[in-house]
Amino acid sequence: MKQIKRTIINDALKRTDIGAEINIKGWVRTKRGNKNVSFIAINDGSTIKNMQVVADLSKFDEETLKAITTGSCVSVNGLLAQSIGQGQNVEIQATELEILGTADATYPLQKKGHTLEYLREIAHLRPRTNTFGAIFRIRHNMAIAIHTFFHQKGFYYFHTPLITASDCEGAGQMFQVTTMDLNKLDHTEEGKIDYTNDFFGKPTSLTVSGQLEGELAATSLGAIYTFGPTFRAENSNTPRHLAEFWMVEPEVAFNDINDNMDLAEEFIKFCVKWALDNCADDLQFLNDMFDKELISRMEGVLKDSFVRLPYTEGVRILEEAVKNGHKFEYPVYWGADLASEHERYLVENHFKKPVILTDYPKEIKAFYMKQNEDGKTVRAMDVLFPKIGEIIGGSEREADYDKLLQRIQELNIPMKDMWWYLDTRKYGSCPHSGFGLGFERLLLFVTGMQNIRDVIPFPRTPKNANF
Ligand code: ATP
Ligand code: MN
Repeated sequence: MKQIKRTIINDALKRTDIGAEINIKGWVRTKRGNKNVSFIAINDGSTIKNMQVVADLSKFDEETLKAITTGSCVSVNGLLAQSIGQGQNVEIQATELEILGTADATYPLQKKGHTLEYLREIAHLRPRTNTFGAIFRIRHNMAIAIHTFFHQKGFYYFHTPLITASDCEGAGQMFQVTTMDLNKLDHTEEGKIDYTNDFFGKPTSLTVSGQLEGELAATSLGAIYTFGPTFRAENSNTPRHLAEFWMVEPEVAFNDINDNMDLAEEFIKFCVKWALDNCADDLQFLNDMFDKELISRMEGVLKDSFVRLPYTEGVRILEEAVKNGHKFEYPVYWGADLASEHERYLVENHFKKPVILTDYPKEIKAFYMKQNEDGKTVRAMDVLFPKIGEIIGGSEREADYDKLLQRIQELNIPMKDMWWYLDTRKYGSCPHSGFGLGFERLLLFVTGMQNIRDVIPFPRTPKNANF
């Protein structure tokens, strides 16, 4: 076969130099035709669009043509031609065809229209479908949007550890990390497990959040963000929770909670606009196939200012709804941790736009949040989104050493884990704020998918760690 430098299909489809000799490589989606000619649709992942290859049957041996089946991988040399078919401007008149890899009739993606549930069982192949190609291209674009946004604003990308010896948000939901032989554990005299011979010489876990280390960075570099994997062993089999997910956590010195809300709103709008500007073909496909309101919902979020509302007011609205006959599965009262159905009621039924709920009861929020004068609430903020509920959780942090220490003691958080964190308040303490955005929750919003398992390539959930 003649050596011609490969053109990716996304570029080839934009070319106008009709008659040029080009090479493409990719996977066969469909083959149809008649006695004289075959039309082969090829996709190489660079775009949702296929390249149509036209093969004159008289020019190729039967063996080669027979091996061009759905799922096989081919290299095509040919001449760029104007396409009279609908949907594309150009096609390729094949001059040479090479089969790089065959795919027989057992290839699971023979016909279209598999359910998303079935595709989860073949997660190793699902990126070859239009749907998951679109989702993972959008996922990449959102990662680029995040780095672009923060870099342009002068934030530094800071890497916090994935293995941690501190349990910052409460026990019971962390994955333990150990090299000990679980069949032969050493015990102390009191009968507890002895970690002195373990790899780190003490109990360690996978991180649930990079925030505490992020605060160390913000109180030195000024404005930072983390963007990495996070692990939570919460046994909640919901469409919004993963055991391994990616989180974006900006943290900014001298920002109060209002600055924090401004940043969160500007950030999400930037990401949503980035998707609309850079993923038009993929969004249109998802909009047409899965969710006719996807694009208009995204545009809607850009248009309005987010509602900013204290938790206490939010609960009042929800109690009013209950009084007027609205049925929730979970009870709602001042002090309750709101469920997704409550959050979505506020956003979708009441305000019809995103809501930032602030000043939550301190009992349902983490120890590091700045305490309000009322002694009951803290300067927390959750950003609530249509279809999703909570997409961001954040707060202004408690900057006062004594108040923070008191809260740590009230909650019995072991000091041996916390001394380094308290040092930020001991030496040159400053007001600061930050938040965490669940990357996959953002992806749910910008893809219109309903299940978080469908926006990450290889989901980890209770009893499921395949691939
Ligand atoms: P939720 O109430 O939805 O369980 P959370 O209050 O535990 O979330 P935070 O600790 O505030 O969440 O984490 C910050 C963000 O990380 C959340 O707003 C959410 O977008 C995301 N997030 C939290 N837990 C998960 C999870 N298990 N899977 C995917 N994303 C998550
Ligand atoms: Mn939260």
